[in-house]
Amino acid sequence: MLKRPLALIAALLLILLLSWSLRPRAASDVSRTALIMGTLVEIKGVGLDDKDMEGAISDAFDAMRREEARFSTRIETSQISAINRAITAIEVDPEVLAVLQLGQRISRQSEGAFHPGLGRLLKLWNFEAVSPRVPALSEVNALLPALIGEPVAISGSAVKRLNPDLQLDLGGIAKGYAVDRALAVLRAAGIESASVNAGGDIGLLGGHAERPWKIGIQHPRKTGQLLATLELRDRAVVTSGDYERFFLQDGMRYHHVFDPRTGFPARACQSVSVVTATVAEADALATAAFVLGPIKGLALLERLPDVEGLIVSATGEVEVTSGLKDQIRWR
Ligand code: ADP
Ligand code: MG
Repeated sequence: MLKRPLALIAALLLILLLSWSLRPRAASDVSRTALIMGTLVEIKGVGLDDKDMEGAISDAFDAMRREEARFSTRIETSQISAINRAITAIEVDPEVLAVLQLGQRISRQSEGAFHPGLGRLLKLWNFEAVSPRVPALSEVNALLPALIGEPVAISGSAVKRLNPDLQLDLGGIAKGYAVDRALAVLRAAGIESASVNAGGDIGLLGGHAERPWKIGIQHPRKTGQLLATLELRDRAVVTSGDYERFFLQDGMRYHHVFDPRTGFPARACQSVSVVTATVAEADALATAAFVLGPIKGLALLERLPDVEGLIVSATGEVEVTSGLKDQIRWR
């Protein structure tokens, strides 16, 4: 028989309390945002203690700012601005070389639908203006001849524009590349679980702790509503839509993804989401498929290995690549 039941209960309670407080704690998400490349970027990480995670996230943001400094056409000292001013070949960083090579490859694969040389056209349409307007047809047409053929010649680490009337703009790929760089920094810091979202350019490291990451695909016509969700690990997901940056004139929607053949916003899609290994590729391919439209765009995504996607046509029909059909949840 126990003489001191109260003491025993107290001891048991103490053990219980100790084991509770010493239990391996489920790591919580650390989430931070920063404004980079004109976009609100959110980085979420799991697994490190808060202080180390904050340090790694801050380094990842810095890596993205370095890419912005290389690629932005709004920054006069960027290497892209230097190529745009020069008439001779310019030595560039390996990062610029890698993105230009990828851009040219996707340009070829999409028969020029993705075109890294739309700088003049984008300036003419000037979406940054307080009240953007449709430019004169003659002004648009004057810019089209320079868009035929390869935009740049690459020799070693030197890059030269092939047409003096052409201006590079890497806006359809550089943000994705910057997200890839941020992921590389997080990975090097020992993080196995993270997501980087730069306004719809999403890169994922591992899963979300034990589970896959759940990624919502925005409905292109129902603001704030999801069209579908995807469960993914270690993937890039990028959506290009006509609802992100646009203005209305005479009841028409003019948005920021251009058909290089017409010099006007591409009309065949409302949105395209691409799932693949790197965010840079997903970014450029989403733009390419958007311009190509649901039939040719779907064919491009199906043809490329390790690439999947979802296309919403101009009339709202949804096309999905064969490899994604079983993974998608409709909302
Ligand atoms: P966001 O910047 O909203 O994520 P996208 O990834 O869809 O948009 O790319 C749109 C940007 O890509 C434009 O702002 C412009 O800089 C550039 N761009 C537009 N049309 C094309 C095109 N046909 N090929 C390559 N880049 C393009
Ligand atoms: Mg893009």
